[in-house]
Amino acid sequence: MTEFQTRGVSAGAGSGPAARRAGIGLVFLGPPGAGKGTLAKTLQARAGLRHISPGDILRQAVRDHTEYGRRALTFMRTGDLVPDEIVDAMMQAALAQAEDGSGWVLDGYPRTTAQADLLDGFLASRLGTLSAVVHFEIGEDILLRRLTGRRLCPICGAIYHVDYRPPRSAGRCDLDGAELVARRDDAPDTALHRFRVFHAQTAPLIDHYRCRGLLLTVNAEQSTEDLYDVIWEAVRPPRATPLP
Ligand code: AMP
Repeated sequence: MTEFQTRGVSAGAGSGPAARRAGIGLVFLGPPGAGKGTLAKTLQARAGLRHISPGDILRQAVRDHTEYGRRALTFMRTGDLVPDEIVDAMMQAALAQAEDGSGWVLDGYPRTTAQADLLDGFLASRLGTLSAVVHFEIGEDILLRRLTGRRLCPICGAIYHVDYRPPRSAGRCDLDGAELVARRDDAPDTALHRFRVFHAQTAPLIDHYRCRGLLLTVNAEQSTEDLYDVIWEAVRPPRATPLP
């Protein structure tokens, strides 16, 4: 773990209503397959943070056959980023729901500097404090193995892996018994393209947040349990000091 200097750096929120909200706010930054979604779901289940994933929101829009979903699908199929105009509109709605002070994890947002600027505006005006930007660091060979073996439950969104995190009953979700599916964009060619997109368009955000003292770099090759402990220990609210 490196470079994480401060708890609770706010994006210029001053003492306005946003600054008064004390919930933890996290951004997860890392290539596809680094385990961001699994960790975000774990933080939601254990720490009550709201998991906000533009990827999940976009896939739902595709399933619902909305206009945004139809337009986004072309980009998602090839592994390219969906244009900001679509993502911004969806994220405005999702972020507005995160204003209740319970804390949030943005899993896969921002992914461009333009999106980071939009998020800053949200932080300053409504959302409150960005506690840390967690950078998931991982080797590319491991990523490819993780993506091609990844399986999802189409009903509840639970994430499995055929080798590293197999369901109890082969091919079936532990939680609801639904038949697990592979994401189309996890196919090797598309996955490779998504890495390239990450390096070209999202990786510059690592320095952007490092300069602001918000970057918490973690080794994403460790287990979900270990990763959870590392992240939670760094960002959890300080324990009250016992009275003498
Ligand atoms: P993910 O589930 O995070 O791997 O995202 C799946 C796909 O959704 C990506 O390959 C993009 O096509 C699209 N997507 C997700 N998040 C964003 C974002 N912040 N900006 C643009 N496109 C995104």
